[in-house]
Amino acid sequence: MVWGYIFIGAGTKNPKIIMDNNDFTINTKQGTRTRWRCTQYFKTKCKATLVTYGRVVNVKSCHNHLPTNPNVNENYLIQSVTINRTPSLIYVVAGKKNPKIILEDNDFILNNKYGNKTTWRCRCYGKTGCKSRLTTSGKTVKIIADHNHDPTYPDTSAAVPQTLRIVKSYLTS
Ligand SMILES: [Zn+2]
Ligand SMILES: [Zn+2]
Repeated sequence: MVWGYIFIGAGTKNPKIIMDNNDFTINTKQGTRTRWRCTQYFKTKCKATLVTYGRVVNVKSCHNHLPTNPNVNENYLIQSVTINRTPSLIYVVAGKKNPKIILEDNDFILNNKYGNKTTWRCRCYGKTGCKSRLTTSGKTVKIIADHNHDPTYPDTSAAVPQTLRIVKSYLTS
């Protein structure tokens, strides 16, 4: 659970939320809960949704496209909120020797570095031939392929949680 902020475009016919450089429109309203859908839903079948209630935002699924960078104009109000991200919390274990990334109960070992891009390979690659990989560049993570095994539940005690932007996900759950 982290603090963050969103932009709310109220007072118009179609209220919008801008978060992480993507925009969302209302999908359904149920009591105090509002479900928002990514505006790219019809274009790229993006499954990213937000559920808001009070000052809490639950983030579900990842965008399957690059940020749309919508324009934040004077019609938007900034609001600080509590953000629950599922399942995109990433842990980074830094260090020269064995840096790794823990994402969704699996860990990824540094594979290759070129330019500002780093590729990471699932720890089970040698064992199960798992093809799941990550590419990181700056604050963006790209997920390539699903795991072919049960989660390994690595130890996150030495890891630092980070909020990185996950741009592509092949997760089926
Ligand atoms: Zn999206
Ligand atoms: Zn794997």
